[in-house]
Amino acid sequence: MDNRFQVQDRFAAGAQYIGGQLRSGTSGRTHDVVNPATGETVYTYELASPADVDAAVAAARAAFPGWSGSTPGERSDALHRFAAVLAERAEEFAYAESLQCGKPVKLSTEFDVPGTVDNAAFFAGAARHLQGQSAGEYSGDHTSYVRREAIGVVGSIAPWNYPLQMAAWKILPAIAAGNTIVLKPAEITPLTSLLFAQAATEAGIPDGVVNIVTGSGKEAGEHLVAHPDVVMTSFTGSTAVGKRVAEIATATVKRIHLELGGKAPFVVFDDADLEAAVHGAVAGSLINTGQDCTAATRAYVQRPLYDAFVSGVAELMESVRVGDPFAPGTDLGPLISHTHRDRVAAMVERARAYATIVTGGKAPGNDGAYYLPTLITDAAQDSEIVQSEIFGPVLVVLPFDSDDEGIELANDTPYGLAASAWTSNVFRANRATREIKAGCVWVNDHIPILSEMPHGGYKASGFGKDMSVYSFEEYTQVKHVMYDNTAVARKDWHRTIFGDR
Ligand code: NAD
Repeated sequence: MDNRFQVQDRFAAGAQYIGGQLRSGTSGRTHDVVNPATGETVYTYELASPADVDAAVAAARAAFPGWSGSTPGERSDALHRFAAVLAERAEEFAYAESLQCGKPVKLSTEFDVPGTVDNAAFFAGAARHLQGQSAGEYSGDHTSYVRREAIGVVGSIAPWNYPLQMAAWKILPAIAAGNTIVLKPAEITPLTSLLFAQAATEAGIPDGVVNIVTGSGKEAGEHLVAHPDVVMTSFTGSTAVGKRVAEIATATVKRIHLELGGKAPFVVFDDADLEAAVHGAVAGSLINTGQDCTAATRAYVQRPLYDAFVSGVAELMESVRVGDPFAPGTDLGPLISHTHRDRVAAMVERARAYATIVTGGKAPGNDGAYYLPTLITDAAQDSEIVQSEIFGPVLVVLPFDSDDEGIELANDTPYGLAASAWTSNVFRANRATREIKAGCVWVNDHIPILSEMPHGGYKASGFGKDMSVYSFEEYTQVKHVMYDNTAVARKDWHRTIFGDR
């Protein structure tokens, strides 16, 4: 990594990016960004106050007429340049992401950063394909058509698990459609959102189109959601906070897009390729140290494969190299913080009373927020470890007998973000994809995402879509325009008002 930088110097001006400038927050309260692999503070900054949120919204509002009035081609050009700047800065982004999250650099280099560059390139193209679907003479006497328009200033709130990708998923469709945006990243991971906004400016995206306010959820977040000049709230985070955000947004009649928690099932039928399922389960549950809303968390395995699956997963989990995120061979980094690690550990400790910990179930005992890959069996379907989001490197495996039971268990949590089915039988696969209630169902894989395809939840995992052209449904509004073609002063339908005169 050649592009390491001293974070405190790089963001000396502060962690707020408003109107194309970095500046300090004015809340009077500071926050430390901590490297979870070591516990060291890498950056201290002043959090945003409500006044900083107001300034960012004002900058976004001022930029809206110019940006929404630009042609799709102009916005597309700017986004192509943006993708190029992001690609040039790939190492810097990967370094900053690994530093603030503890992500193995392998993951940030091969997944987070290229995914973000690809997203920017995708939305550069998609910006030219904003469509209204109808145009014609539906009444006979009028011509109607649909205009698809930008909606205004979007207020977005993002979590800490994939800070760069979450910033990209929120910002890119919003600005491709001609909106301007204020994004609040999680206060523990602001670095790559700030770099992302700076890269937008460098690519020639006008000042005020992309603004970042780094503040607490309660203060800056709630102020942004309630702000009267913000027309839409797009939130990614936990279901509990999403409910609070929805309440506030509803009170001000805002459009809402919620990407919430997940508890993805991983259903292995008895004709599955066992080796593929074992590898898929370990990779799918441990990606990003399990801090992935679509991570495999509950594997349901049909009885004939159950024992072999459990021993295969345990063996592979034990071979995973846990350690320094910057060492090229590291597979699994720490959790995001010591507090979160302790939360994951406490859930596993509670499960110890009613389930079997096959492997893991402890921290390796160094200074970082590490937790070993953990496999749990013998838990009841209604237990906490099966029903609640853990957001750590923990997989629970349960057996099932009939196909009906496997699908029923897969659907038996409040969540519905993602799922996978493992089988070599096309009828079983097709049934699982139809009947599992989730925004994405993979067959014989678990995790891959694409810029072209929508990402979003069913049930308590929220509503609305990130990525793909479907995201434009959130970030645009359609307007019916209707022209009279008769040039007649007394229209036929006036009879309903004037009688037969
Ligand atoms: P979180 O809900 O604690 O916080 C998310 C964001 O909301 C942060 O920026 C936080 O500062 C802000 N926030 C907190 N309280 C707020 C309030 N009262 N008003 C406004 N904003 C507030 O979530 P987290 O711990 O940062 O992230 C993990 C969660 O995110 C998990 O539940 C995970 O499943 C979910 N997630 C979902 C998706 C998805 O696409 N569905 C993607 C990634 C993460």
